[in-house]
Amino acid sequence: MDYEKVFQDAVDKVKAEGRYRVFAHLERHAGNFPHATRHHDDGSTSEVVVWCSNDYLGQAQNKDVLAALSEAGARMGVGSGGTRNIAGTTYLHGELEKELADLHGKEAALLFTSGYVSNDAAISTIAQLMPDCIILSDALNHASMIAGIRHSGCEKRIYRHNDVAHLEEILKELPKAAPKLIAFESVYSMDGDISPMAAICDLADKYNAMTYLDEVHAVGLYGERGGGVSEREGVAHRITVIEGTLAKAFGLMGGYIAGSEAMVDAVRCAAPGFIFTTTLPPPLVAGAITSIRHVRATNDLRVRHQERAQRLKDLLVEAGLPVMPSVTHIVPIMVGDALRCKQATDMLLDDYGVYIQPINYPTVPVGTERLRITPTPFHDDGVMDELVAALKDVWMRLQLQKAA
Ligand SMILES: *Cc1c(COP(=O)(O)O)cnc(C)c1O
Repeated sequence: MDYEKVFQDAVDKVKAEGRYRVFAHLERHAGNFPHATRHHDDGSTSEVVVWCSNDYLGQAQNKDVLAALSEAGARMGVGSGGTRNIAGTTYLHGELEKELADLHGKEAALLFTSGYVSNDAAISTIAQLMPDCIILSDALNHASMIAGIRHSGCEKRIYRHNDVAHLEEILKELPKAAPKLIAFESVYSMDGDISPMAAICDLADKYNAMTYLDEVHAVGLYGERGGGVSEREGVAHRITVIEGTLAKAFGLMGGYIAGSEAMVDAVRCAAPGFIFTTTLPPPLVAGAITSIRHVRATNDLRVRHQERAQRLKDLLVEAGLPVMPSVTHIVPIMVGDALRCKQATDMLLDDYGVYIQPINYPTVPVGTERLRITPTPFHDDGVMDELVAALKDVWMRLQLQKAA
């Protein structure tokens, strides 16, 4: 067996499909977000504006967050030194969990090393705790939820994206007594649409199912205090498990679940993805507490975020660019072809200093390849006008499809 050849063939296949990913090596500038310096392989550099970060509110460079991180590091050291059960738990971990539980109006919360890990660990553990549990999953759920569903080993049924009628059709067929878990997201991050949460909760009540909600792209961004779409719609108390990340709107890293004391405790006792891995470093935890408190208290930031997204959508429509319908802060533009999507983003980066990643299969279905733009409160009118001009140029140079 020529092992190396197998690896090379795998890479060649991805390249042939136009899906090969090349990293942009950036040096960000705290205090000057979203501007960054790009480091080229030949040692030279160029200036870029970042348009595809999930640091939605620029909290990764917030002065108070940076100060909290440095202070905690200087005082307690950096690494956490172990798992939560063995020496890894500082008083700050407990404080952060209280903050997260309170953010969602839940009894308890549990930290994980990432949002991905929290979905994988929590879904698989919760479903395994229920004998013969059946998981009902939205067709567009994130890879981390799918991983959790697979690892549970339970029966799964997929309902059409955001289709409550289809969900009910499936629920109707299932044995009344069987435990059920409906897994869905609030904001779907590749299209920018929102799930019909209250209607899903109604079905959960009617068929006695648990609900598992991924609020990763909404925590910090929606609701008066940043509790997510479930806060905005007043349904947080009806959701069994709310899952979120510290890595997007809160600007750091880590994931969590929030829910009842018993549910959280059960996951804490049983989930390998919680038990057998070193926990978050104390400085990061301190930074997260500061960031969450700031974001909760600063609704202006959310208002400005939405205003910026709307402004960009308006400019793109005006320019005749095929911006996809989105009711959120996510601004996708359809290209519809992997190779051309990659050509467009290469051109934007090399010729215009505009950094946007192409979104290709398997993240989205083949034929719906797109650019995904995430304007933040720090993207001012100046950079927006430059972006739109660059996009118009690239659309002309590559003869891409304009808006219908
Ligand atoms: C990013 C993302 C995650 C994973 O969160 P991380 O903290 O980045 O691991 C989970 N769910 C959804 C929908 C995401 O987009």
